[in-house]
Amino acid sequence: MGRTKGNAEAMKSTLEETLLSAIRTIPDYPKPGILFRDITTLLGNARAFRRAVDELVHPYAGSKIDKVAGIEARGFILGGAIAHQLSSGFVPIRKKGKLPHDTVRVAYSLEYGIDEMEMHRDAIAEGEKVILVDDLIATGGTAEGAVKLIRQMGGEIVAACFVIDLPDLGGRAKLEALGAPVRTLIAYEGH
Ligand code: AMP
Repeated sequence: MGRTKGNAEAMKSTLEETLLSAIRTIPDYPKPGILFRDITTLLGNARAFRRAVDELVHPYAGSKIDKVAGIEARGFILGGAIAHQLSSGFVPIRKKGKLPHDTVRVAYSLEYGIDEMEMHRDAIAEGEKVILVDDLIATGGTAEGAVKLIRQMGGEIVAACFVIDLPDLGGRAKLEALGAPVRTLIAYEGH
């Protein structure tokens, strides 16, 4: 028992170390005071990319997930890989004006601004099981908007998955209060 726990803990720290060392932090981007967590270095690292995707899908392997919805733009990369792994469809949630067909639209607030996002009206059908994906959750404004779009079309949010959590900004708590289970792999204190 102790040995199993020890192994599990050793694996956990390895995952955390792998991800933390693969993510680059850019101070004062896109504006002063923001510590931008840049996952392009993680995506460029074959082992870290695979581990992040494998760990995010782990609890849902074997369950029927109809759609993975990814938030523009980094959520497309992670979400596409996750959809492939789960044999699910992929749905892009985009900034307004980018999708060519009929859309549903929602306004949302960001850690640094306000914007609107859209999803194709026919992308998710009533009762479909959906996993929402983005690289990072901060205030949760973006993910909250995405949850609203998915639910508006009758989708059931099985989980909202992010590589990075910034727990001090309250996004996880906001999504959980909406009844959306949240899965994250690593957390950074502060913002
Ligand atoms: P929020 O709506 O506040 O949860 O912000 C989440 C969205 O903004 C995600 O799409 C993130 O990619 C991006 N974002 C917010 N804060 C950061 C940060 N410190 N580093 C990198 N991306 C961020």
